[in-house]
Amino acid sequence: MKGIKITIDSPDIIRWPETDFKVCVSICNTAEDRRGIFIKEISIQAGGVILGSTAVGRKLPSISEEYAVAQTLIEKPYYQKMKLWRFLNYSTCSFTFNIDLKAVKPDLCFEDSINLAAIVSVIKEGKEERLNVSREVVYSQSLQKLPGWVAGDPHVHTRFSDALPWCTVKRQALACKKAGFDWVIITDHDDLLDPVAYARERLQCRAAEKMFDIAVLLGEEVTTTGGDVLVYDAGCYISRWKGNSQKTGQELFDELRFSRGICFIAHPFRRDIFGDHRWKEWQVTGYTGLEILNGRCSELKALQAWDRLAWERGEEWRKIGEQRWVGIGGSDAHHLSGIGRKLTFVFTGGSTSHSSIIKALQSGYAVASNGPLVDFTVKGKHLGETVTLQQGERVFLVIRWPMGQKLDRLRVVMNGRTIHDLEVTPFENSTHSIKIHVTVQGPGFVRIEGMEGNRTAYTNPIFLELR
Ligand SMILES: [Zn+2]
Repeated sequence: MKGIKITIDSPDIIRWPETDFKVCVSICNTAEDRRGIFIKEISIQAGGVILGSTAVGRKLPSISEEYAVAQTLIEKPYYQKMKLWRFLNYSTCSFTFNIDLKAVKPDLCFEDSINLAAIVSVIKEGKEERLNVSREVVYSQSLQKLPGWVAGDPHVHTRFSDALPWCTVKRQALACKKAGFDWVIITDHDDLLDPVAYARERLQCRAAEKMFDIAVLLGEEVTTTGGDVLVYDAGCYISRWKGNSQKTGQELFDELRFSRGICFIAHPFRRDIFGDHRWKEWQVTGYTGLEILNGRCSELKALQAWDRLAWERGEEWRKIGEQRWVGIGGSDAHHLSGIGRKLTFVFTGGSTSHSSIIKALQSGYAVASNGPLVDFTVKGKHLGETVTLQQGERVFLVIRWPMGQKLDRLRVVMNGRTIHDLEVTPFENSTHSIKIHVTVQGPGFVRIEGMEGNRTAYTNPIFLELR
């Protein structure tokens, strides 16, 4: 289990003194379900410098066992008194605490999380100064991930548009953190036309990001005559978009070409009591992909459309350098409990920087899912990449999934057709991997679906090109 990182800004509180001083960290476990946690180690960083680390090796009981425990914790806390080295060049600085902990119960499930509150005191020349930096963080070890992969929700609404009034940016970010996500993209409807609202929402995203240690990106769901489009990383461009619904999808995509933004057609087949939200302008070009999984509608038609685009029009569009129809999954949550229904795993090498998440979404190194993760390679090529092969060549698909995650079935889809549908054996589940032989029939694509019960992971394709 990885450590928790708590970042505490201390701009006004600490002026680095001439003399050495000490920092005390008191950690209080506020898990409501009486779960104790085992803290292995605490390390403290400031100004990007590791000041030191201390092994703890103790179980921290849940606060709910006794209120007195909390009293004791504060009076006789797990103080890690550390000497701060003199900081010559920092007049202001922020602390980062890495708390390496292990849950006592190893079988935590999807919704589980642990709350920790950290209180920091600085002792200078024998006098204790308590910093007003108490913070609750949420830990969730829920989702199983492969190394280098991070999970997130690229489609979440808040009260800035039509979500329920209590769905603030902060609460949605917290719900995502509890679901085990590493990132979330807030995509309110057309609200960012107003530069003031845009600035406010952006500030709230930044605050939530710091508070819960989860990357909170700000995108937008833009209305066009074709339907809804999720736009990411267009920055202040979006605030200039005269987003009246009279503009066509193509007009939006053309304008986005000039900014760094990427865009996905949202819920292309959604039609329900709230209206007809299906995508209507399929001849458009210049978009990044489709939301193949949406928390508010079924996915079958979206999957078929996705395959059809990549197969029927793939050849023709690849010639003119068109995009590859990256498939993503988003909850489209308009309330707190909507979070976690659909998600997207991206490979970033473990980074949660905004640019690395956007890059992975753009390149198709991503898996749309409602829980499990599965990844595969062909001749060393990864999701979203193209592998050059010979006609009739037999190649291995090397498929793997996270330790601790079981798969029941695997499907290999080539050019829109299922060519393998097999049950995963206990042995394969023990090695979390399988190799499947396929024969290349022509150019196109291959993708994998991995099922665990009624939950499925849909990888983005690896594209096949003939030599
Ligand atoms: Zn939406």
